[in-house]
Amino acid sequence: MSDSLINLTQKVIKPTRLSKSMRTQLNERYVKSLEKQQYRFVGNHSAVKICGWTKSHIRGNGGCYKYKFYGIRSHQCLQMTTSMYCANRCMFCWRGAKAPVSDKWYGPVDDINDIIKGSIQAQMSLLEGFKGSETANKQLINEMQNVRHVALSLIGEPVTYPKLNELLDEFHKRKISTFIVTNGQFPDDIKKLKYVTQFYLSVDAANEKTLKKVDVPLFKDYYKRLLKSLDIMKKKPFRTCIRITVIKDVNDDDLKGYKELIERGQPDFIEVKSYMHVGASRKFLKRENMPLHSYVVEISKKLNKILPDYEIISEHVPSRVTCFIRKELKKKQYLNFKKFFEMTDKKQEPIAIKYSSKKMCSNLPN
Ligand code: SF4
Repeated sequence: MSDSLINLTQKVIKPTRLSKSMRTQLNERYVKSLEKQQYRFVGNHSAVKICGWTKSHIRGNGGCYKYKFYGIRSHQCLQMTTSMYCANRCMFCWRGAKAPVSDKWYGPVDDINDIIKGSIQAQMSLLEGFKGSETANKQLINEMQNVRHVALSLIGEPVTYPKLNELLDEFHKRKISTFIVTNGQFPDDIKKLKYVTQFYLSVDAANEKTLKKVDVPLFKDYYKRLLKSLDIMKKKPFRTCIRITVIKDVNDDDLKGYKELIERGQPDFIEVKSYMHVGASRKFLKRENMPLHSYVVEISKKLNKILPDYEIISEHVPSRVTCFIRKELKKKQYLNFKKFFEMTDKKQEPIAIKYSSKKMCSNLPN
């Protein structure tokens, strides 16, 4: 196994010696290909990669759209995963076919503190170079060493990590906010989810037929699983978001279908985002399938006309994305981190509107 495997102390992070029969999520071929893309691996099933927007923010060139929409400080964001496999083979995925596919968790289950320690260490070692930078913003370089947000969205299906609730609890205890992204193929794991700052469900098509074409799902009952995930999401108290990735001339026609799925899940937010013509997706899609921001806005306005409970509250041109908010949230789009941690500290259910604010809030605990 390669030396990119972050291990604090021999004991903590080294991959478990596996019996032949026990498959692991981190096979050699996969690790080698992802290392070239600046991934760092932690233990048996976790990985970290610095997001382009984290670097952009540190350089003073602006943060990601989640900074603009919700107040997430991109320079203090840890982009990671706790699971390397997925149950889909989405045609727009930049990760490519090397990613393992599975219908359930497999391999050893690492300890939550080992994962957190190893991931933060990986983040810091990947950001080390900025410390010597003449151009990067000094204050942001100081702040980058203090992770304040984790995006469990890098690759695979982190929602399937068997100790996810404990892991999220530990991040919240450290006053680190949490976003998690899933494509809705593991509804039972979503059901188990207790506390997360913001939950994302990717809805990659408006109907069963197009979803099969776009996501190439492993599960035969893939559409039932998505619908069940929407029903479960609707009942969750914390902030929820449906993300629609618009692939021009592929999944952008059936707006009525999207309306039905959105109204079924009743998310607090909807993000309508352009597909990006990058990485392995170029094998399956053309540049013309990547819509311009103006087209994303056009689709969003049409969708908004048929979604009376929502209003478009923001957009981010560089990421070609718009943000809808549920009118019930009274334009409170920003995260009130202090309120969120007060609730999780007291083991109170994090109710979306109670930790939402009209003004951007500090993400520092005190
Ligand atoms: S929230 Fe997402 S886009 Fe923003 S810095 Fe983190 S990983 Fe990147």
